[in-house]
Amino acid sequence: MNKTDRQLGMNADITRRDFISGVSVAIGASLLPAASSAQDVGAQDLPGYYPPDLTGMRGSHAGSFEAAHMLLDGKTWDAQDTGEEYDLIVVGGGISGLSAAHFFRQAMGDKARILILDNHDDFGGHAKRNEFVIDGRLMIGYGGTMLLESPGGYPDVAKKLIRDLGIDTQRFYTAFDRDLYRSLGLKRGTFFNKETFGTDHLAVGALSDPDVLKHIPLSEEGKADLARFYADDREYLSDLSPEERLAYLQQTDYETYLKEHVGMGDASLKVLRSWRGLWAIGIDAMPATTAWSSDYPGFAGMDLGFPSYQGEGDEPNIFHFPDGNATVARLLVRQMIPAVAPGDDMEDIVTARFDYARLDDPNSAVRIRLNSTAVRVRDVGDKLKNAVQVTYLRNGEARNVTAKNVVMACYHAMIPHLCPEMPQDQRSILSTALRAPLVYTNVLIRNWTSFVKLGLRRADCPGGYHHGVQLDYPVSLGEYRCPKSPDEPMILHLTRVPGQPGLSARDQFVAGQRDLLATPFQTFEREIRDQLGRILSDGGFDPARDIAGITVNRWPHGYAYGYDPETDHVAFNPSLWPMEKRHWVHGSRRFGNISIAATDAASNAMTESAIEEAHRAVSELT
Ligand SMILES: Cc1cc2nc3c(=O)[nH]c(=O)nc-3n(C[C@H](O)[C@H](O)[C@H](O)COP(=O)(O)OP(=O)(O)OC[C@H]3O[C@@H](n4cnc5c(N)ncnc54)[C@H](O)[C@@H]3O)c2cc1C
Repeated sequence: MNKTDRQLGMNADITRRDFISGVSVAIGASLLPAASSAQDVGAQDLPGYYPPDLTGMRGSHAGSFEAAHMLLDGKTWDAQDTGEEYDLIVVGGGISGLSAAHFFRQAMGDKARILILDNHDDFGGHAKRNEFVIDGRLMIGYGGTMLLESPGGYPDVAKKLIRDLGIDTQRFYTAFDRDLYRSLGLKRGTFFNKETFGTDHLAVGALSDPDVLKHIPLSEEGKADLARFYADDREYLSDLSPEERLAYLQQTDYETYLKEHVGMGDASLKVLRSWRGLWAIGIDAMPATTAWSSDYPGFAGMDLGFPSYQGEGDEPNIFHFPDGNATVARLLVRQMIPAVAPGDDMEDIVTARFDYARLDDPNSAVRIRLNSTAVRVRDVGDKLKNAVQVTYLRNGEARNVTAKNVVMACYHAMIPHLCPEMPQDQRSILSTALRAPLVYTNVLIRNWTSFVKLGLRRADCPGGYHHGVQLDYPVSLGEYRCPKSPDEPMILHLTRVPGQPGLSARDQFVAGQRDLLATPFQTFEREIRDQLGRILSDGGFDPARDIAGITVNRWPHGYAYGYDPETDHVAFNPSLWPMEKRHWVHGSRRFGNISIAATDAASNAMTESAIEEAHRAVSELT
């Protein structure tokens, strides 16, 4: 360890336990009954198994993806039969898969036997709970799916599910303390790093403020570009009709639009290139329509023939549980398997500790089997018995289970490898399903006095390893109290979107996925310590002293994106695309007794789509 590493605290005594699929599961596996036993017993069945409190590399953790990658490389497995038979098997235990189980029970009754398989060591998919404990205090963070966005506009089935789970969205108006950071005078800022801008500089306040802009390390020309950009009062593309503008912006990336029409030069674009986190895509690959509909500057209220983003309107972004939508997943699980945790409402769920040993109980109608990757799903077409056989891999052993019905609530690009019998046209469409990679990192710090000294609540970081850092959402629910005093510990939330600028969106996603799987936790840790140290040093922050825990949630297969293989165009929510371009609708059609859910089926990475597609998939079977 060199001197810099020591100064950063790389040797500091924080928890970096990334062992559930490595050491713990290895130890766990050695305690399990002999592999010849047809009954499958896993690490989750052992006492003390509790993945939310693991730190280090989470999200797509080691042990969760290797079997799937071997399958893509053509590996096959000989499986032993468990003899287990179900009414429904769900592949994928994210919000979509769990919702599918919920809807199936509603349609078929509580006695319906359901098995949910997921390759991760925890359920919830992207909706991931992270916990830390510091000085005996529980701190809860979100490792993925962050909040219910505009739930008042959810489709009816999603609204009903949220209600059926006992979530009263009105409660967030008091649970979420919208005044806390404002009352402390904290603002949004931008950290300019010396690698990109020649010097480290923290600008506190909006760049649209001339007093802030004047001090940033950018050429006068760059500052003038930014001032014009934020003023956003010029008309562009005025010679085109709204329809022509829409067609043009759909085919143009935001960066090209800004260069060619708004006249922004390289200096100012370097600042905006940090805007990657929200849509998991750089401005060089983001369709200009996405920027327009998100109300990014540079369009001066341009008319495309329909309304753009109307701001938060009546529904602010406050519908956030301390663990994000992991609570939606936990409520679904507790409702279907009541023995897993005490309690019965949206308040007590927040701190309820789940007993994972109850998830796969043979006496329960619904079972959830973790660390289990489906590697083959075969419609055996036996209408008298169980129609579908699913082979899954756990602890290196392949096992068969059968069911009358299967819902695939997993990544669509994998389905052709799982079900090679599907028609060729369907497999081709499924194989083009795109997922954008991204990282949600949680850093536990001992106090946040440095933020208060600097007057900062969040910072965009152009050119930084993480593109942004912010204080956690201040939400107190049930027995959970968010930190309100700067002397209390705090979770910082950092976002990183890997990728290779200059490539097409699709190729950037692939490059980002490779980058994520090749980057060890130690690299993340060093970058985090260095970056936070530099942003916050004037506030007295010392990374070696003040960082108490780090959890990196990497999601190589993150947001589901709309993709048109004919043009190579992408869209986050392709609601503007004509029907004939919505290939995923045909890719998601039912095949025998197998139906297909998950956000890929809508090409829209939102919780309401995960729920709605689950409902459609179950309706097709029932
Ligand atoms: C970092 C991040 C932040 C987000 N924030 C928000 C937000 O604030 N609001 C919002 O509405 N949406 C958000 N989303 C979008 C999110 O994708 C959806 O809301 C939703 O959680 C997706 O649910 P899903 O079940 O469709 O997919 P997933 O969550 O991806 O679940 C699919 C599951 O299937 C598993 N699986 C795949 N293949 C197999 C196999 N062969 N065998 C077994 N299991 C398999 C996967 O590993 C995964 O666990 C976010 C996404 C990410 C990545």
